[in-house]
Amino acid sequence: MPGWDGFSVRSWLRDHYDAPVWGDNDANLMAFGEWTKGEPRDGRDLLFLKVGTGVGAGLIVRGRVLRGRQGAAGDIGHIHVTDDPAAGCRCGRTGCLEAVASGWAILRRATERAADSPVLSAVLRERGEIKGGDLGEAVRAGDPLAVRLVDEASEVIAGVTANLLNFCNPAVLVVGGGVLRTGTRFLDQLSRTVLQRCTDLVRRDLTIRAASPDHLEGVTGAGLLAAENLLAPPALSRWIDRGTPLGQAALLQRFSADLA
Ligand SMILES: [Zn+2]
Repeated sequence: MPGWDGFSVRSWLRDHYDAPVWGDNDANLMAFGEWTKGEPRDGRDLLFLKVGTGVGAGLIVRGRVLRGRQGAAGDIGHIHVTDDPAAGCRCGRTGCLEAVASGWAILRRATERAADSPVLSAVLRERGEIKGGDLGEAVRAGDPLAVRLVDEASEVIAGVTANLLNFCNPAVLVVGGGVLRTGTRFLDQLSRTVLQRCTDLVRRDLTIRAASPDHLEGVTGAGLLAAENLLAPPALSRWIDRGTPLGQAALLQRFSADLA
């Protein structure tokens, strides 16, 4: 993350509030929130795919978020998907999934090709830029350029997602993020391609669905993360008699279950 590399968000928050702080990336928290609160609530392994400004994934295996050694598990936005030199990514490389299919990449392409769309060229003329809401409105209205851009993005993301599913064979795929605001087309297209490209065993009993419509799965996941850590017996026994976990943040953070 340019500009944030090596910065400890947890330490900064802990020092300012003297409260124990746990943190995780958005896709992991959204995955955890959906695994706990979304349907079906049956505890099966779940892959969460977040498609918004960026693209990311979170994987829950046997009730735990898979984070990997450096916390980079699920960071699929920078998987190489094309040799096109024009697909420059914000990470500095070229050809990343995000540079082709994320919200910002779609908007970049919409701006470049706005001349093909009366709706989007009017937006560009009036406001100087095309935003996510404008694109979503254009997709829902059936604007051919906007629809084509979202279809192209869903095709590329579906290819990567099918590979992930074929590798780890979860029971549920949940798709969330800002892309849901463009309507149901993205998920419909993605589901179709994913099912075509998954092996027979992997797609058997696979549930594919949109994240909860309230867009609160990330907040839910964060709340559950804090509750899980504060109420874990080793941590709870150190603050329950005092009546508050405030004032011993560093100590309590050491009893985190498995978090960086
Ligand atoms: Zn990249």
